[in-house]
Amino acid sequence: MRAIVTGGAGFIGSHVVDALLARGDEVLVLDDLSNGKRENVPDSARLEVADVREPLSGPFEGAEACFHLAAQVDVRVSVERPADDAATNVLGTIQVLEAARAHGTRVVFASTGGAIYGECDCPAPEDAERRPVAPYGVSKLAGEEYLAAYNRLYGTGHVSLRYGNVYGPRQDPHGEAGVVAIFLGRLAAGETPRIFGDGSQTRDYVYAGDVARASLAASGQDGGVFNVGTGIETSVIELYELCRRVAGSDLQAEHAEARLGELQRSVLDRSRAERELGWRPEVGLEDGLRLTWETIAGPGS
Ligand code: NAD
Repeated sequence: MRAIVTGGAGFIGSHVVDALLARGDEVLVLDDLSNGKRENVPDSARLEVADVREPLSGPFEGAEACFHLAAQVDVRVSVERPADDAATNVLGTIQVLEAARAHGTRVVFASTGGAIYGECDCPAPEDAERRPVAPYGVSKLAGEEYLAAYNRLYGTGHVSLRYGNVYGPRQDPHGEAGVVAIFLGRLAAGETPRIFGDGSQTRDYVYAGDVARASLAASGQDGGVFNVGTGIETSVIELYELCRRVAGSDLQAEHAEARLGELQRSVLDRSRAERELGWRPEVGLEDGLRLTWETIAGPGS
């Protein structure tokens, strides 16, 4: 199969590229390298430096699937510059859908659970109320709605995946959910990490390799929205303890004032993905942190 990965030079996109190459696909990465890195793209994939905000039709010729991960990913940037966020996340998604329409390409869209559901009191199923608290969540939700509208209008089978807090090798500490990269990076450098608020806030941490498998499984679906999370909540304090354990560090974190608008609880119900995609996470948090730590501090460390 010929597949396109937009944002394939970024953190999660590069794991999707790896998974596609491993199953023998021909992979074209479209990335403007605004946040991604050329060295994240393996030699066996092709990289075309392209901006998804511009018309994209040419590269889609002959592509059966497009994994659309290119995005403005920083929640704080979306608050400061919502129009820039929407330009990439909404207009960019429309450009991808238009190119896909011209060439009969199936789109799998990287959306977000936490930023769309907002505050959770239990693992949020896909039909939970949508309460984005930042423009980033709104722009991702708009992207999903465009996919759904194209499916109704053109009979296409595009799929949206709402990821939990993804972590793993090659994560950039500045992204939507960079806390693991920040903690492990600081521990490796012997610098004191900071915990905002009392550290009781919870997230659903899912390993990037597991997210890549879910993305490939979703490309065989005929439309729909699927949560891609573990269903397990981990507090920031618990996460930091696990990071210290894998890093073999006794460094104490310092506490800082809670950040405005930060969610207290965020966790996804993964039963639909399990039922319909046959997907379940395989890498537990401690194992995933260890795999990530090894890429930061070197194997066997
Ligand atoms: P990332 O920044 O590493 O990857 C995004 C990539 O998109 C980068 O390589 C960047 O250079 C590229 N890009 C940005 N603007 C572009 C443009 N205009 N044209 C072409 N390429 C452009 O971030 P990530 O964490 O790997 O996120 C990947 C996707 O997953 C995003 O769509 C993000 O919204 C979504 N997501 C991430 C998380 C998470 O926990 N990291 C959670 C939910 C959803």
